[in-house]
Amino acid sequence: MPDCIFCKIIKGDIPCSKVYEDDNILAFNDIQPMAPVHVIIIPKKHIATLMDLDAKNIDVTSNLISAAQKVARIKNISDRGFRTVINCNAEGGQVVFHLHMHLLGGRKLQDPLG
Ligand code: AMP
Ligand code: ZN
Repeated sequence: MPDCIFCKIIKGDIPCSKVYEDDNILAFNDIQPMAPVHVIIIPKKHIATLMDLDAKNIDVTSNLISAAQKVARIKNISDRGFRTVINCNAEGGQVVFHLHMHLLGGRKLQDPLG
């Protein structure tokens, strides 16, 4: 998608601080971190929102979870704990319309939902 900022990061047109990459997934440090560890995990395939996941691309779901496990190990927070969040659409707080999972950790997350 030409106007999608995360597609531009995948293409290498916009730089990122890469944490993990494989054939299907890219993970990079969030540019405005909300916690000591704040990684954005994205499928390389452009999918706009969580609501666009279906039986045809269900592999994306397991790829995101598998990548979250790898990122948590890379960042050494798998035992301490962390949080994953997928914002969906306006009231969910989604700003970038390329499906992504936030992985947050490195401190005690205070707000049960924030
Ligand atoms: P969301 O509100 O769920 O759509 O989250 C979008 C996230 O992408 C925010 O946490 C932004 O800080 C992050 N973000 C936006 N642009 C970049 C970028 N160029 N590099 C890294 N993170 C970004
Ligand atoms: Zn995209």
